[in-house]
Amino acid sequence: MSVPDRLMRALTSNRNWVALGVLAPIGMLVMSGLMLLDLRRDAWDRSEQTSGNLLQVVERDIARNVELIDLSLQGIVDNLRAPETSEASPRTRQLILFDRAATAKDLGVLLVIDESGEIAVDAAAWPPRKGNYADREYFRAHKARLDLGLHIGQPLVSRLTGERMLPFSRRISKPDGSFGGVALGTLKLAYFTRLFDRIGLGRDGAINLYLRNGTRIARHPYAEADIGVNIAGTPNFDRFVREGSGAFIGTSVRDGVERHYAFTQVGDLPLILNVAVGTADVEAQWRTKALGIAAIVLALCGVTIALSLLFGRELRRRAEMHAEVARLSCTDALTGLANRRRFEDAYARAGADARRTGEPMSLLMVDADHFKRINDKHGHTVGDEVLKGLAICLQAGVNRPGDLVCRIGGEEFVLLLPKTDEAGALRVADEVHAQVSRLTVGMAGIAAGAVTVSIGTASGVSRAEDLYALADAAVYEAKAAGRNRTRSAPSEISGSKGGERLRVIAA
Ligand code: GH3
Ligand code: MG
Ligand code: MG
Repeated sequence: MSVPDRLMRALTSNRNWVALGVLAPIGMLVMSGLMLLDLRRDAWDRSEQTSGNLLQVVERDIARNVELIDLSLQGIVDNLRAPETSEASPRTRQLILFDRAATAKDLGVLLVIDESGEIAVDAAAWPPRKGNYADREYFRAHKARLDLGLHIGQPLVSRLTGERMLPFSRRISKPDGSFGGVALGTLKLAYFTRLFDRIGLGRDGAINLYLRNGTRIARHPYAEADIGVNIAGTPNFDRFVREGSGAFIGTSVRDGVERHYAFTQVGDLPLILNVAVGTADVEAQWRTKALGIAAIVLALCGVTIALSLLFGRELRRRAEMHAEVARLSCTDALTGLANRRRFEDAYARAGADARRTGEPMSLLMVDADHFKRINDKHGHTVGDEVLKGLAICLQAGVNRPGDLVCRIGGEEFVLLLPKTDEAGALRVADEVHAQVSRLTVGMAGIAAGAVTVSIGTASGVSRAEDLYALADAAVYEAKAAGRNRTRSAPSEISGSKGGERLRVIAA
């Protein structure tokens, strides 16, 4: 078959159209699925980008404030070393040591603490407020070690103001290198709360600031209980410390919520900052959109598939109906036998086969004897019953699958026997007579033997198309010879007259 033919055949096949009607929506579903996954990736990209930007902004703000405090502390330490400072009066010394930074809004206290822990100089008060800090962790740390540099202590509550603070401190060394006290500056934790609160991060979003040792300094959203909690050793915190900066998805030990964490160390300080967004929040908008799109696409695909299947079913029904009409157009309504039309087709095919194969075919023309009398005596309905009975007898007379029994007229039947010679035809004729001799119609009191038929047979190869006329003539002869008998048309080879072989079936 050529390519255009094959294409044409594919286009006209019902099954192909139905398959297309089902496969196309499935393809649409796959495409929509891929598109939704792409949208989801976009949502994540956007969220990651936002987290990264926020992290950077917050980190810079904190680093700058810590730097300002540290510059003040370094100034204090450096100025204390100058001989002029020690020679100055305590009041002048206060003015020398603390610059304008000491008045910054978020700064808690700025103090010089002497080696016994007492406040020596206080940026905010003259004379200095009273207080001893010898017990503070940062004081003990500087006392024990020379090289701490800028030390960031644990969050604490100020003894002077009662506010929560984060202490920053530097060691003051005497000229001989021995411990001379601590320069202390504190940053109010309220600063972090205010800084973080300006940022919206969704329902499960959070910002955390930790000391490198795991202590939480600040958290958004703010909860008193979170401050000072140490989360060192948890998988998330281990990762913050190990990797320095980066991003990952993890579950919070605090509330069990899965979040996307973007984290970084603040400058080169021992502070770790993270911006965390709930994974559900990242996908929330996308999910709503995806559900809407998925529902619409699914509904459309469902409708398309359903319509395709319905269409397929209708096409199938139509094909079945056509087949039924075709069958009925070839069937005799009264007897259910093949009708004349079917006979003519089969006769033409059998003739062609006989000529091709050289095997003889036979035709038996069967005509009910004095049928008019039966009708006249018993009525048309009984006549019909007899015709049905005859159909059964004829059908019982043949036994090969290729044999065809037809009703070609009122009480006239034909038996088409492919691959059957004259002897075979006569055997079938004998069987038909035998069957008909047993036919009874109880409702009309027609007993066995009351109905008879005359049969004309014709067999041959080369004259296949003439067999009908020959068989018809043979019936005529059978009728003329007294009915209830068989007459054969002259044989093809001998050319003898069928009349010589008159067969009478005993009734
Ligand atoms: P012969 O022995 O010479 O064949 O006599 P016959 O009466 O059988 O032949 P004829 O051709 O004279 O009459 C055939 C009758 O068959 C005529 C008609 O009333 C009857 N007939 C034809 N078709 C039907 C049918 O469908 N039903 C019934 N009941 N009778 C039919
Ligand atoms: Mg007739
Ligand atoms: Mg008749």
